[in-house]
Amino acid sequence: MEFRQHVSLAPFTTFEIGGPARWFVEATTESDIEAAVDFAKERKLRLFVLGGGSNVLVSDAGFDGLVLHIALRGIERSAAILSAAAGEDWDALVSSSVATDLAGIECLSGIPGTVGGTPVQNVGAYGQEVSRTIRTVRAFDRATRKWVDLNNVACGFSYRRSRFNQGPDRDRFIVSRVTYALAQNVPASVTYADLKHYFKNQGVADPCLQQVREAVLSIRLGKGMVVTPDHPERRSAGSFFKNPVVSAAKLPHIAEAAKLPEAEVPRYPAGAEEVKLPAAWLLEHAGFVKGYRQGAAAVSTRHTLALTNQGGATAAEIAALRDTIQTRVRELFGVALEPEPVWVA
Ligand SMILES: Cc1cc2nc3c(=O)[nH]c(=O)nc-3n(C[C@H](O)[C@H](O)[C@H](O)COP(=O)(O)OP(=O)(O)OC[C@H]3O[C@@H](n4cnc5c(N)ncnc54)[C@H](O)[C@@H]3O)c2cc1C
Repeated sequence: MEFRQHVSLAPFTTFEIGGPARWFVEATTESDIEAAVDFAKERKLRLFVLGGGSNVLVSDAGFDGLVLHIALRGIERSAAILSAAAGEDWDALVSSSVATDLAGIECLSGIPGTVGGTPVQNVGAYGQEVSRTIRTVRAFDRATRKWVDLNNVACGFSYRRSRFNQGPDRDRFIVSRVTYALAQNVPASVTYADLKHYFKNQGVADPCLQQVREAVLSIRLGKGMVVTPDHPERRSAGSFFKNPVVSAAKLPHIAEAAKLPEAEVPRYPAGAEEVKLPAAWLLEHAGFVKGYRQGAAAVSTRHTLALTNQGGATAAEIAALRDTIQTRVRELFGVALEPEPVWVA
């Protein structure tokens, strides 16, 4: 295990942006994780846990602490239970589960990053979320210096949230392994409108898991939402803003600001008196259409919700575009947009 100094973080992120880490180390075992925590503690360094770097925006100044890159490997399967080490590639796990007829994560195809990153923001797409299949998360508890196996309830999952990325326990746990309870001999999940539409067009009535995976990958590719080398829109962190949940009482004002009848404001029910609004719709109606550009930072030409590095963008440029969008959406609609990627500084 080698503690290196002044390691550029940009190549470890899908934005391809970011200054150096003061210290950088890769963990391939659980004892490496413990050693890294001790190293940081002894030197009074802040510690940042890095997976696949697909949901982070690293500042231009980098990180003046220890970056712990999770690279633990290994997958075990027992019937429909899949247990994978945190450093395993997420999409490779989805691909192998689909190939072996295990259902439950097929709609999460094409999401970049590691297994360990999935419980952190309760990864979700096309009608599935990992919170529905995660059975346990094994993690090092930095507060007690003990390894714990957290069951699903203890992870505190909700939309793009978990105990790992919010509240008093944020950053307390370092995930080393995640166990997913999948299902055998069940139909693939096709609940999401885009997917239903895709299969209707293809004339496919009961798609199998592999067909759902291919459909999701195809839809994602069209939106530039898979990380493909040489794709002009590849440098992003996926959707940059969460879909905001607002009081239903705000709808008349939002409709008026968008110059539309209230019935035409898209929304999904989100609990008593609240609705979830598509952030992409808010951006578009605030003037941030596909291709909107500010320096080398831009709204993707394929997907309104993805902010992209068009080549050579700095973190400051992405942050400036983020601020411009947040300010305008707040002024126009009275809605606060929360970024999805983690700011590392
Ligand atoms: C093109 C593209 C499409 C995307 N599409 C989706 C999508 O459809 N749905 C979705 O939910 N997300 C999506 N994302 C976001 C991202 O891929 C996921 O959030 C992913 O799970 C992040 O995993 P990671 O390993 O890259 O984490 P990182 O980006 O490295 O880290 C993200 C956060 O998780 C923490 N973390 C990572 N690993 C660990 C660990 N082992 N222990 C403790 N904390 C850890 C980090 O400290 C950080 O706070 C997309 C991103 C891109 C670039």
